[in-house]
Amino acid sequence: MSAYIIDGKQVASRVKEEVATAVTRMKEEHNYTPGLATVLVGEDPASATYVRMKQRTCEKLGIRSVGITLPADSSQTEVEEVVAKLNADPEVNGILVQLPLPGHLDEEAVLNTIDLEKDVDGFHPVNIGRLAMKGRNPLFIPCTPAGCMELLRDAGTEISGAEAVILGRSNIVGLPMAMLLQKANATVTICHSRTKDLKGHLQQADIVVAAIGRAQMVTGDMLKPGCTVIDVGINRVDDPEAKRGYRLVGDVDFASAKEVAGAITPVPGGVGPMTIAMLMKNTLHAAEIALSKG
Ligand code: NDP
Repeated sequence: MSAYIIDGKQVASRVKEEVATAVTRMKEEHNYTPGLATVLVGEDPASATYVRMKQRTCEKLGIRSVGITLPADSSQTEVEEVVAKLNADPEVNGILVQLPLPGHLDEEAVLNTIDLEKDVDGFHPVNIGRLAMKGRNPLFIPCTPAGCMELLRDAGTEISGAEAVILGRSNIVGLPMAMLLQKANATVTICHSRTKDLKGHLQQADIVVAAIGRAQMVTGDMLKPGCTVIDVGINRVDDPEAKRGYRLVGDVDFASAKEVAGAITPVPGGVGPMTIAMLMKNTLHAAEIALSKG
């Protein structure tokens, strides 16, 4: 039997509609408009595209967008000063520093500079620490893992008590994803490049989240029948028939996996659209925090 295909575009549209409605209400009731600042250092084309997509989505949802672009050779002090100004700006609720930063900059130090209440990416160590600790809650949850949780809810997947296997332990996806699932009472296993028996772990998993950046590495025969698969990976593979000469695939071999899984996200159209939607939701939340403080 073929799996339920989790439609990330549809779920993301629903989240964005909810945000737009709440933004309209906030303007009407409080005469207040949420604002998101993006900081782009350098001219990396992929980063510039991501920033543009975020700004466009802000405009569509009625969120004020402030775009700051700095030259690639900006100094640590210059970048931190820009963040400090945004911290002090009452019209800016969320600050997003587009990663990766150029190699000469200390990324951790820049992220540490962001005001905790404006950390809409959820990467501030205090937010991550709260995510990890029992009985504590972060102000913001990193956007891609938060999007994966929405998709699991859409699929109706029972998380409490489930065996969850996360492939990848990066700070932006794998690690926070594992912490979120643990908070939701799953039993979590994190696999990485040194894991010896990946297939053995996967075959026990009711929930699989793949975030390794290895094209179609997870195949149907590695999965437990009926499991839910969330494929975060975005990989280019050569395809002479495609207009651009390549196509995008996930970390999971969709064709074989969908015959074994109970539910699965496609790539593209699964996790991808969720990340920006959750960023908008976090920005709204930041505005709510600012409003509550008067
Ligand atoms: P990183 O490269 O930071 O981390 C990859 C992780 O995968 C590491 O923990 C690494 O292990 C592990 N890994 C690598 N190879 C293997 C292997 N053969 N077996 C098991 N584990 C392995 O990647 P990111 O977390 O940033 O991104 C992962 C994927 O998700 C990428 O394809 C990226 O493009 C995509 N992505 C998609 C987003 C979206 O919005 N949909 C957002 C962010 C990322 P180790 O720690 O041992 O090195």
